[in-house]
This record gives sequence, C-alpha cells and structure tokens, in this order.
Amino acid sequence: MDFSEAITIWYFENKRDLPWRCTNDPYKIWISEIILQQTRVAQGLSYYNRFIEHYPNVKDLANATEDEVLKDWQGLGYYSRARNLHFTAKCIMDKFEGVFPKTYEDVRSLKGIGDYTAAAICSFAYNQPYAVVDGNVYRVLSRVFEIYTPIDSIQGKKEFSKLAQELLNPKKAALHNQAIMDLGAVVCTPDSPHCEDCPLNEMCLAYTNRTFAKLPVKEKKTKQRDRFYYYFFIQNGDKTYLHKRGDKDIWKGLYEFPLIEKEEELAEDEILHLHDKNELSEFSNLKINRIHKSIKHILSHQRIHACFIECTATYDKAKESQYLEISIDKIDEYAVSRLTELFLEQKG
Ligand code: SF4
Repeated sequence: MDFSEAITIWYFENKRDLPWRCTNDPYKIWISEIILQQTRVAQGLSYYNRFIEHYPNVKDLANATEDEVLKDWQGLGYYSRARNLHFTAKCIMDKFEGVFPKTYEDVRSLKGIGDYTAAAICSFAYNQPYAVVDGNVYRVLSRVFEIYTPIDSIQGKKEFSKLAQELLNPKKAALHNQAIMDLGAVVCTPDSPHCEDCPLNEMCLAYTNRTFAKLPVKEKKTKQRDRFYYYFFIQNGDKTYLHKRGDKDIWKGLYEFPLIEKEEELAEDEILHLHDKNELSEFSNLKINRIHKSIKHILSHQRIHACFIECTATYDKAKESQYLEISIDKIDEYAVSRLTELFLEQKG
C-alpha cells in the first residue's frame, strides 16, 4: 500500500465531521481556512458558523463594514487576516464579478492567500492536484521520511513542497490533502504521537529509529519584544473613551482605551503620575481609583504587559481629540483586542 492509499483509507474511517468538509463552495472553504490558521478546530467552529451566518457569500462580506468584520473576528488575533478577508471579498466583486476565481494562479493572486491556502481552496473546492503543506504536513513528512532540513528554511520549504506534490494522488487531491492534515492533527501530534494507531507506521523512519521527538527541525528562534501598555479606563458619568488603532502596528482598526506606552515597567507611584506629563491632555481632574494587576499577553513577536487603570475624569470636547466618547453600556459594539476583552470580562 502506498502513502496516499494508507492515509485515505485511514481518513475514511476516522474523519471528523466538520461543516467546511461537507461543502465544495470555495468561499466557505476560504473562510474556514483563514479562521483555522488562527485557532484550533473546536474554537474555530463557532467563528466559522458566525461568519457564514453574517456573511453567507462573497457579496455580503464585501458589503459589510470593516468594523463589523473585525467585531466578528474579535478574539482570534492576527487582525490583518480579517482585514484581508474583507479586502479580498471586495476585490472578488470588482475583478471577478463576484465569482470566486477557479485557477490556482488567480486564487493565489488574492491578498491574504498564500501557497497553502491556494492549494487548500483549489484542491478542496475543485479537486485540482495541488498538495497542501501546513504545520501538520511538515510534521508527518519530516517524520515518515526522517528529513532534518529545517522546515522554515528556503531549502526546507522547497524540499517539503516537492515531496508533498510527489506523494499526492492527483485524482484524489481533496481526499489526500484532508487525510494528511487530519493525520497530523490527530495522530502524528507534536508531543507523544500515537504511532501504534498510525497507518504509516510500517514505512515511518522516525518510528523505526525512535527519532520522532527531534522532528521536524526549525532553525529560527523568534525574537520577542516586550511592550508595556498603560490603559486608562476613564469613567465620566455613564461615558467612557476609546481610540481606534492606526497603521503599522498590531491591532490596526481595533478600539481600545486611551493608552500610554512605555519601554519598561513602571512602579505604582510612577503610574499615579503618568498622565501629568501632558499626555491625555483632553482629560481634566483625572483621579485614579484602581490600578489592576498587569496582564501578560503573548503575540508571535511581542509580549504585551498591560496594566488597566480605572479612573474618573472630565473631558474637554472643545479640544481636537483622537478619542471617541461612548456610553459605557455600548462598549460591546466595538471590536477590541482579546486583551481588552479579557479586562472587560474580569471587571464584570
Ligand atoms: S508512525 Fe508515528 S511518527 Fe510516524 S507518522 Fe505515524 S504518528 Fe507520526
């Protein structure tokens, strides 16, 4: 039995019943793939269902506002992906007359769609012979063939794509791709793979040689940058204040409380005088009522240490301001980062 046969037989018996598996609508497959790049299946399911309910087709997504799309994406992180979804839906309306493109080249040309997503859409929706290579596939292939080339090197990317393409059964591209991804997710897991239950164990070199814990190899260690955020949750009667984040930084387009960012962590007495130095100048009579314990929030290249400060103040509407005055009980209508959402949940 060859590689493709072994995994597809296993897949028939073990496949997970997921809504995006029961469709060949490229729009739905695209939405599911972008969501699943962010999260595990269990959490992704509710986001997928909400997206499809709110935007059942490309046209509905294109007609939504960016704020609406970001609100539905809230909590998933990597908000540029949500903005790209929205941008690309508009582009499909303009350039492809609202019909999802059908060739790999056209699909790959869309913003936010890389090699992996283009292969997933073209194989799942149209059964075109493009092999997917995601984290699960890298893991399975590096172990079965005991390949030590780093998966994040240029050479590694080429080598694994070539191998994945050679192994693909072109007549059963959708099935083969789904099978290898599921096998990586469920059986060939990063820690303690279930080799005894694996349909590839007879041909797997890492199993024979007991080397699976060393594979796959990665060469780059991501550098982490620490940032210290001091958020002012200002209450002015039943009003509070939000700011919309701008370009060239994390969380573009999301809303947040007035923020002062520092290079290092501040002591409590420094926090008490933080707003004196001409920052937050739109607010007067600022009185701090509570300084919350700092929350650490890890992103791919950054560690955000966020301290939320509850205070009261008056607001000088006459000054030109970057802040939006809103009713506190309307705050749920604004898309915020998972960090701010956590604070609001904890605060109750
Ligand atoms: S035998 Fe084990 S290491 Fe090899 S592919 Fe299967 S689960 Fe992974």
